[in-house]
Amino acid sequence: MSDADAQNFYFATTAPPLPHAPLRGETRADVCIVGGGISGLSAALHLAERGFTVALLEARHVGFGGSGRSGGQTIFGYASGQEKLEKLVGAADARFMWDIALEGMKLQRELIAKHAIACDYVAGHLHVGVKARHDAELRAEVESLHETYGYRSVRFVGHEELRTIVPSERYTSGLYDSNSGHLQPYKYTLGLAGAAARAGVKIFENSRVTRLDIAPRADADSLVHTKAGTVRARHLLIAGNALLGRWCPSSRASSWPWARTSPPPKCWARSARARSSPTTPRWRTSTGCSTISGAPPITGCCSAGA
Ligand SMILES: Cc1cc2nc3c(=O)[nH]c(=O)nc-3n(C[C@H](O)[C@H](O)[C@H](O)COP(=O)(O)OP(=O)(O)OC[C@H]3O[C@@H](n4cnc5c(N)ncnc54)[C@H](O)[C@@H]3O)c2cc1C
Repeated sequence: MSDADAQNFYFATTAPPLPHAPLRGETRADVCIVGGGISGLSAALHLAERGFTVALLEARHVGFGGSGRSGGQTIFGYASGQEKLEKLVGAADARFMWDIALEGMKLQRELIAKHAIACDYVAGHLHVGVKARHDAELRAEVESLHETYGYRSVRFVGHEELRTIVPSERYTSGLYDSNSGHLQPYKYTLGLAGAAARAGVKIFENSRVTRLDIAPRADADSLVHTKAGTVRARHLLIAGNALLGRWCPSSRASSWPWARTSPPPKCWARSARARSSPTTPRWRTSTGCSTISGAPPITGCCSAGA
């Protein structure tokens, strides 16, 4: 067991799944996906459901990366908040990104239901303030989410009500969202892997990709090499996130999923430029990356420090 696994509460408290064998020799697929986290697995599942053959290569085991050890919070929007995002990318693109995030939350709940993924999903999220000024900020955020984004599942929670939920004087007020929630991220990732495998995706664990031979033409196969085998595929999706390393030249400056197809949304191209990511004609950002998030009575997870 790696140090990362040993320190992962979610990994340590989940019954070990049946392993997937490493890649040995040569195999062919329409799409080769690198990375067995939620990006790679969700893409694999959806591609397989649309009739593509898919081979997915994972360097360690499914859920080894962020997907299996995240906080498991499935919360609306982005960490920066919408106001900051609007200043960064403009109102239209901030709206577009908002819509993607909400769509991701909805899709996640649909996947959990459709594939009966037992991942301890709990609905509801409470964001609490710890300073007097947070009252005004949280009220303003609720108003802005209602007015600008039509997002009605959030509401302001005053100090008195908050004390009945979290019996502490530490917190001043809160923002409660019935549409957000929490899940056990490793179980969710394993659930996606199970659904993908049942849909026909060939998953190979302990199969670190070490080299790519990119086809010179779009109608020819590329070769994806591991130490013990090769996948021939027409399409590639690189979903290795921060653990990708330096073998994939076009991804050095980015942890976004990369695909050989699909034009990126305009705002992602702009944000890629802003981060100096090398968006070459061959490699483009894909929409395979969505944050996770989830809803009703005030019982969900809680984060502090508005
Ligand atoms: C501490 C922490 C807390 C977080 N909390 C939250 C949260 O509460 N809510 C939330 O929405 N998000 C959270 N995140 C972010 C979230 O975990 C990630 O955005 C998401 O898991 C990314 O999924 P992914 O599939 O793109 O990447 P990952 O899950 O990282 O998967 C990438 C996979 O690619 C594999 N790989 C890498 N290189 C290769 C290679 N050469 N060959 C084969 N395989 C390779 C890796 O082994 C890994 O398994 C958190 C992240 C961290 C680190």
